[in-house]
Parts: sequence; structure tokens; C-alpha cells
Amino acid sequence: MSIRKRTTKIVATLGPASSSPEVLTRLVEAGIDVVRLNFSHGTAADHKGRVETLRGLIEQSGRTVGIMADLQGPKIRIGKFAGSKVLLKNGQSFVLDAECELGTTDCVGLDYPELVNDVVNGDVLLLDDGRIVMDVDHVDGTQIHCIVRQGGELSNNKGINRQGGGLSAPALTPKDMEDIRTAASLGIDYVAVSFPKSGDDMRLARALLQAAGSHALLVAKIERVEAVDNLEHILDATDGVMVARGDLAVEVGDAAVPALQKKIIRMAREHNKFVITATQMMESMIHSPVPTRAEVSDVANAVLDGTDAVMLSAETAAGEYPVETVAAMARICLEAEKTADTALDTHFLNRVFTRIDQSIAMAALFAAHHLKVKAIAALTESGSTALWMSRLNAGVPIYALTQEVATRYKVSIFKGVFPVMMPQSGHERDDVLRAAEDAMIASGAVEPGDLIVLTIGEPIGKPGGTNTLKIIKVGEHRPAH
Ligand code: PEP
Repeated sequence: MSIRKRTTKIVATLGPASSSPEVLTRLVEAGIDVVRLNFSHGTAADHKGRVETLRGLIEQSGRTVGIMADLQGPKIRIGKFAGSKVLLKNGQSFVLDAECELGTTDCVGLDYPELVNDVVNGDVLLLDDGRIVMDVDHVDGTQIHCIVRQGGELSNNKGINRQGGGLSAPALTPKDMEDIRTAASLGIDYVAVSFPKSGDDMRLARALLQAAGSHALLVAKIERVEAVDNLEHILDATDGVMVARGDLAVEVGDAAVPALQKKIIRMAREHNKFVITATQMMESMIHSPVPTRAEVSDVANAVLDGTDAVMLSAETAAGEYPVETVAAMARICLEAEKTADTALDTHFLNRVFTRIDQSIAMAALFAAHHLKVKAIAALTESGSTALWMSRLNAGVPIYALTQEVATRYKVSIFKGVFPVMMPQSGHERDDVLRAAEDAMIASGAVEPGDLIVLTIGEPIGKPGGTNTLKIIKVGEHRPAH
């Protein structure tokens, strides 16, 4: 009996707690599918070193683990304090001022002087992910005078958001543009854009990536009010999205996030895009070997919402239990998937397909579901057929068989899609089909006698779209030697 495979993918952020080859190896063994490098920290040389170590380990492990660069974006931050932190009292005055060099309990510097032009009296500013709340009282020259509504400890370089969004900072800073070139030179598989507001922000990122020679998949982090308003346009311009619940909650209010999460996941899937659910999923495991009941529910509910991937941030970057966290997350996903509805999503019946390859992908799903086949084998160059199939729930694993190394890494984030390296097997149809069966058997996906649905583009060897669907009993047509 084959072991059930987890279909929801795990993205783990690398940091001091997970940079050693030993911990990285254990994270890969525990089941991570994508490693996220946070470009808010570290130099190009640091990223290069990490990518080289990672690639070596991934190669040794035999697993396909993609690498994501997460750009810093225009996160607005306060400056530093003389004593690295201060305690702010409710009701006190406090000034944000780009010209304040070293902060005190009365004022602190800002890395975005233009903030004075973006705020007006009565605006609410949220610092340190909303832990500190200030009301803007008035603006005077370079100074934003505030009254502290919710005080507490405030330390160096914490972020600032305005409730309701509307800050003017462009999505791609000069540092992000440089980091895009670094990501391209390192052959990174996915690039996440922080704080995009529009489809144009994503198009600019794509143009910069392509100019640097990269075909990495783009992820739009949905964390601004404007991104929620422009979701449809962003989806048209990106490959995937991230429900970046940390900043999103600060901008739209925490209580609005669960419903938005469901909406973003549903819309992403309908637009044939992948989606990652991120932030504080297993937060307590930064210091605890077991998750809270609420965290278990949160991860399971993201799975039931249909997310492609769930993401870990500080839990694996700086936590005390990075490997245990991944193992717990994998266990929760697997259990939630057992209860997920495996009835074929029927809404595609009402959708119009004009592309031949997309129609074949849908027909394959339909046949796979009704014939209760063991697996779908999608022979693919770009990974698109596997992506389209995985947007609908058919309860059948999809194996993306490809000779393209880059495609193997890209599909590793799609829900229910498992990459398989396809050996070179010439252009003869029978040879290619036999090689596909062998690769499926070798990967443990099927055994002789299993029924599979296979999609392929013919004539073989001619680049072009998938146009053929075959239903095969594995091993049936082999000549007996
Ligand atoms: C978030 O805000 O939820 C997020 C993922 O972004 P970052 O961790 O980069 O701030």
C-alpha cells in the first residue's frame, strides 16, 4: 500500500536558527518544499553563500526544494534610540522626525522623510506590527507630532504602517532593484515582491527580472489595502500571491484577515495562480516544542481553504525548534488533507477554455477523477499543465515529469504537484512513454498494473503545447523480454 503524500507545501524562512548545514539537512528531511531567503537581512555575498550551501544539500537529499527571494520592499521604519529602546506611556506626546538622529522617549528618526506628506491630523499610525498605536495630532515641517494611544516598549528600527493604507512609497526601492539582479544571478526560483499596490508594480518587477535574464516565478505579497482593492489586476500580472497576514492585518485590521484569506485563496486559484498563506502560523513554536490548539486549527483551515503552501517565518529563522515546527506543520497538513473534500470541483464546467493545452489538462482531471486512477502524469516543459490541473480538487496526485531543471523547482510549490525528473529518451513516442512510466515507478508513484492518466504534446520533440491525453495501465504495453 502506498503512503499518502502531503499535498500542501511548506515554505520555511532561513535565518540564524536554520543556516547550519546540519539544521538545513534536517529541515529538508522534515519536509520543507521551498526555502525563503529574507532579503531584508544580509548582503548579496551572504545570499550567494546560502544559496550555494542550500543547492549542495538539496542535491544530496534527492528532494526538490525551491528557493524564494523575498524582497524587503518599502517597509517604513523608525530610526535607532540612544539606549536601543524606550518605554512609551499612554497619552504622552511623541514626535516622528526624519531629522532626529538618535531617539529618546520624546522623538525618533524615520527612514522615509516623505511620510510627513502622506499623513494628516487624525491618522492612526501603527508601529511594531500594531503593538504601539499613535494618533497624528499635527504635522510641522519635518515633524509628525503624535499622541500615544497604546504605549509599550519600542525598540530600534521597528516598522510603521498607517491604518487604512494609502502611503505613497513605491513598491520597488533601489535596493529591491539591486536585489532582483542578485536573485537573477543566483538562479532563484521565486521572487516575492513586498507591498505591491497594482498590476504595474508586478509588471515592473517582471521586466527587471527578465532584463537580468531570470524567469523566476513572481509572488505578489498582499499586504496593502490597495493590493486588496486591485487584487484582480495583481493576479493578472503575477504568478502567485502571498497572504502576508502580518502587514495585512495592520493595514486592514486583524479581524478582517480571515475572510480576506479565503477570498484571496479562492481568487488566486480561479486565476490559475498559486497562493501561500503566511505569518504567525506556528508562532508559539518559536519557544515551545508543541503548537497551540489555535495554531493547529489555523494551519488546518488554510489547507481547507485550498492554499498551495503554508509558510514559516521566525519559527524556522530564529526559533528554538525549527525542525519540530516543520514536522508538526507537515503532520497537521496531512491530517487536514484527509478531511478535505475530494469531490471534483465542478465550477470548471461553466468556464470557457479556448486553449488546447488547458482543455487537455481539464479533460485529464475529469478522467482521472472518474476512473479513480492512481496518478496523473503530466509531461511538461513549463509546468503549466500541472499548474492548471492543480487549481481544481480532483483528489489525484499530479506528477510533473520534466527534463527542465528550472521547471522541476518551480512546480514544487503547487498544491498536489510532485516533480519527477524525466530522463532524455529521444523522440520516439513509445520510448518516451516507457521512460515516463519508468520514472513514475522509480519515484514510487505507481506500480505495474496501476491505471494512470498521462498528458503529452505531440509530435514529441517539437516544442509546443500539450495536445494528447492517454489512459494507461502501467507496464501493459511492454514487450516481454
Ligand atoms: C507579512 O507581513 O505577513 C509578511 C510575510 O511579510 P514580512 O515577513 O516580509 O514582513
